[in-house]
Amino acid sequence: MALKAKYIWSNGKFIPFKEAKIHIINHSLHYGSAVFEGIRCYQTPKGPAVFRLKEHIDRLFHSADVMGFKVPFSKGKIIKITKELVRKNNLKECYIRPIIYYSEKMGLLPNDASINIAIAAWPWGKYLHKDSISVKVSSFARIHPKSSVMTAKISGHYANSVMTALEAKKAGFDEALLLDWKGDIAEGPGENIFFVRKKILYTPKKGTILPGITRESIMKIAHGLGHRTIGRNIKVKDLKSFNEAFFVGTAVEVNAIGKIDKIIFGKGEEGKITKEIKEAYLDTVRGKIKKYNKWLNYVE
Ligand code: PMP
Repeated sequence: MALKAKYIWSNGKFIPFKEAKIHIINHSLHYGSAVFEGIRCYQTPKGPAVFRLKEHIDRLFHSADVMGFKVPFSKGKIIKITKELVRKNNLKECYIRPIIYYSEKMGLLPNDASINIAIAAWPWGKYLHKDSISVKVSSFARIHPKSSVMTAKISGHYANSVMTALEAKKAGFDEALLLDWKGDIAEGPGENIFFVRKKILYTPKKGTILPGITRESIMKIAHGLGHRTIGRNIKVKDLKSFNEAFFVGTAVEVNAIGKIDKIIFGKGEEGKITKEIKEAYLDTVRGKIKKYNKWLNYVE
């Protein structure tokens, strides 16, 4: 699907998609100082709805704070504009990418650089293209939590993610898995991870990961389905003890992991509990489970 739509909202105005450009001498392009979000909007029985929009905008403002941006719009205004953008582009299901970035400025301190905020939205289908993927434990460690603020979604963090994804692809795998500086399993380059053993779900604790909004939703959904979820430190040597594994995230949604390096989970296909969780998640985001409709923000 084309990474395209009719309009982008940029610094207070809706402008044609192809006019949303930046200058080459851009602070955030050179130094990774932008902050951004990844959000999805889904078709529901009551029309398109953005999933957990408030939580995403809260995280955007938190990330902005970390990078020293004073956002010139309120959270409420950004929420309103996000929905207006989906409507104006006549999108039913789409991915939404707000980004806050500095303008032209060289030298690390962004002092007098102006602050920009833009929101793009476009139709974006499945992020990983297989129902069950192969994953390579990366030779790169996840960023040390003392080197940055891991709860913030900072563009510079994604240099680490891009390198791990390239390394995994080159070795013939679909995706990467990063360990933290202690050697514990952290997360994928753009996803959180869950493991299943005897109907109990395990996921790495907060601290060195981006604590995903999907991760939190999945913990609640799993609990609603009668599964216990436990946040704990997980080592590579523990992998053999799990029956299933899956990635979660806004872009990836829920995606089964068939193998990590040489360790195969079950038959290497989507496991039973992964399937149950995936279906419940997709029903949740599409407004089919009433108790989770509080997470939907209708566009109309
Ligand atoms: N970890 C990383 C590194 C990510 O980029 C993402 C995607 N934002 C996630 C986890 C999942 O976060 P969320 O569920 O909030 O999309």
